[in-house]
Amino acid sequence: DVAVVLFTSDLRLRDQPALHAAQRAADAVVPLFVRDPAVDRAGFAAPNRLAFLADALADLDGALRERGGHLVLREGDVVEEVCAVVSRTGAGEVHLSGGVSGFARHREERLRRELERLRCRLRVHDGVVTVVPPGAVVPDQRDHFAVFTPYFRRWRESARRDPLPAPRRVRVPDGVGGPALPQRRRLSGVSPGVPAGGEREGRRRMAAWLRSGVDAYAERHDDLAGDATSRLSPYLHFGCLSAAELTRKAREHGGAGAEAFERQLAWRDFHHQVLAARPDAAWSDYRARGDRWRRAGRDADAWRAGRTGYPIVDAAMRQLAHEGWMHNRGRLLVGSFLTKTLYTDWRVGAEHFLGLLVDGDLANNQLNWQWVAGTGTDTRPNRVLNPAAQGRRYDPDGGYVRRWVPELDGVPVRALHEPWRLEPATLRERGYPEPIVELDAGRDRFLAARGR
Ligand code: FAD
Repeated sequence: DVAVVLFTSDLRLRDQPALHAAQRAADAVVPLFVRDPAVDRAGFAAPNRLAFLADALADLDGALRERGGHLVLREGDVVEEVCAVVSRTGAGEVHLSGGVSGFARHREERLRRELERLRCRLRVHDGVVTVVPPGAVVPDQRDHFAVFTPYFRRWRESARRDPLPAPRRVRVPDGVGGPALPQRRRLSGVSPGVPAGGEREGRRRMAAWLRSGVDAYAERHDDLAGDATSRLSPYLHFGCLSAAELTRKAREHGGAGAEAFERQLAWRDFHHQVLAARPDAAWSDYRARGDRWRRAGRDADAWRAGRTGYPIVDAAMRQLAHEGWMHNRGRLLVGSFLTKTLYTDWRVGAEHFLGLLVDGDLANNQLNWQWVAGTGTDTRPNRVLNPAAQGRRYDPDGGYVRRWVPELDGVPVRALHEPWRLEPATLRERGYPEPIVELDAGRDRFLAARGR
């Protein structure tokens, strides 16, 4: 018999429950990836992610070939393409990892209906994309946790699955093919610093992180210049790494660093379980606060361009444009700056991030943006971060600002996070903008709007 494995956000062979189950159910499998233009139309075709995806598909294909198989690519409506492959091969089962977005849910429903007509069974596997499946731990009488700490306690007890090995051999039936895989070098508009994608690269980085990064994580994760976080987020987003396996390895490693790191992995699951219960929260306020946001005009343009006159904000925005990644502390403070100090709709920021982030992820991006904007799950929704204070605290030597804002090269540390203290002529000569907003005025406007 034949089974189809539809790969989505799980581009790996190790600890891949959908593939594992398909291999057990049938003696031949079709490892399938469908490039669906509907995903592109929904804004998910950012060049940075397509570049990483191209690497990840090539790597998956290579790993399948080492085992006697290969990856089958199709392009078109995902449900039609899966059905075409099922009709051609006579497959009796299609295996798929469960997703949380509205798109993923709709795909599952349509697949179930259409496959039934072909007398083919759809098997959806939970706990592949996240460590704990959304909905598996919930408070009494509720369908999801709205507060992280109690969620985390329950999550820790449940996150215990044993990782599965990669298959030794994969037999693909004859006569299923498709177009050639996409190639990263053919893409345009890719940020220069986008890392190589794929399971092999992800595992190399995971091993290096556990060997020599994680122990210092608790003390150093907020140090902007130190760049001391794992940078594994793109590998987790595309499923090149299994979040369950990574959690397991962090736990086995032990220590304060690994514990703090595990907590961050739980945040990822937390946002997934919110989105699964509230798919509308991808674009609507999770908790409406009656905001009447200012129109996103020139201020938002300056924010996007990294020219707000606040060095730490500008440094982070430029890192995003250059690398397709931004440090979490940067994401927090540029988000607070846009939604609170400039009082601009969080969707403006979320969209810009999704256009660039390699780890750009509907659950994590949208719900973190809502957290920052105070329309989400933050229990202190009206806190406003002060970029100058954040700069002094998280970039005390100014290394991060100097790396990304060369206009301020050579400026003494004490003025680096407050360059408006320099002579206006000096700023002009250096080509660095004056602040586009006054911090206290921005803050007061926001608090007044929130009725504070
Ligand atoms: P590490 O610090 O090494 O953390 C390890 C892993 O834990 C990360 O790879 C990530 O999977 C998870 N994680 C850490 N912090 C969070 C968090 N706050 N929420 C959810 N998961 C977390 N993360 C994304 O993966 N995709 C996004 O699109 C995304 N958008 C964000 C937007 C905003 C406004 C903010 C404030 C945060 C966003 N994050 C997003 C969360 C976080 O910033 C990134 O996951 C992290 O910076 C990735 O770097 P890292 O892998 O080095 O993280």
